[in-house]
Amino acid sequence: MTHSATFQLNTLGVVTSPYDEKFAIPRQPGLVSAAKGKITLTGDANNVELVRGLEQFSHIWLLFIFHGTAEQGWKPLVRPPRLGGNKKLGVLATRSTFRPNPIGMSVVKLDEIKVNNKQVELHISGLDLLDNTPIIDIKPYIPYSDALTTANAGFADQAPDNKLDVHFTLAAQSTLQQLNDKIPELKSLITQVLAQDPRPAYKQAKGDNKIYGIRLYQRNIKWRLISASTIEVFEIS
Ligand code: SAM
Repeated sequence: MTHSATFQLNTLGVVTSPYDEKFAIPRQPGLVSAAKGKITLTGDANNVELVRGLEQFSHIWLLFIFHGTAEQGWKPLVRPPRLGGNKKLGVLATRSTFRPNPIGMSVVKLDEIKVNNKQVELHISGLDLLDNTPIIDIKPYIPYSDALTTANAGFADQAPDNKLDVHFTLAAQSTLQQLNDKIPELKSLITQVLAQDPRPAYKQAKGDNKIYGIRLYQRNIKWRLISASTIEVFEIS
């Protein structure tokens, strides 16, 4: 093998996610438990034999392609949002999406494996993935080896705090009520996503007058800060 070997990877499945755009997706899996999605296996991987026994595992590793940013390339140094966006670290010291190989890895909860007319679907929750993310591998999560509770994690030693309280106007509550049969988890999803304060690092911990929008389940959700620590969701359309 030469030092410059290249390998071809095949997509094994595609993710359906509530996150239609990058803005406001949590930085890691497990931070927003109300995020529910599925992986639809594709091509030769759409065969129930590939997942025989996987139902014994509560959590799985997903290896995936950062397809939304892959074409933007990468640089050796990046500015992790965790550090306020003003300190540079080596790309391999971070979980930046802009990597030499645009491969991501996330542990998610495996809720159910469904087979409908030979179509295999893995229903998952806690994901941090954009809609349509291509999956290149799936592996069982093995706590005795994968969960290292004494490991040092430098600048990412703690989960980010839930920074903000999230309130809904009467109008927004009424739309949630109408959507309740279709998307029962929508209120929890919006609350958990916004509590993390998706605004850029330089705006956090401050009030501002801007009207923001996020897209979840192909709906536009409008919100603003009504105090330095409180968000009001005022429109869901
Ligand atoms: N858990 C993964 C990892 O460590 O490799 C991803 C961490 S990365 C910091 C998480 C961010 O990736 C999300 O906040 C979202 O903005 C972005 N993201 C998720 N899916 C993506 C995709 N398919 N293409 C580009 N960016 C994506």
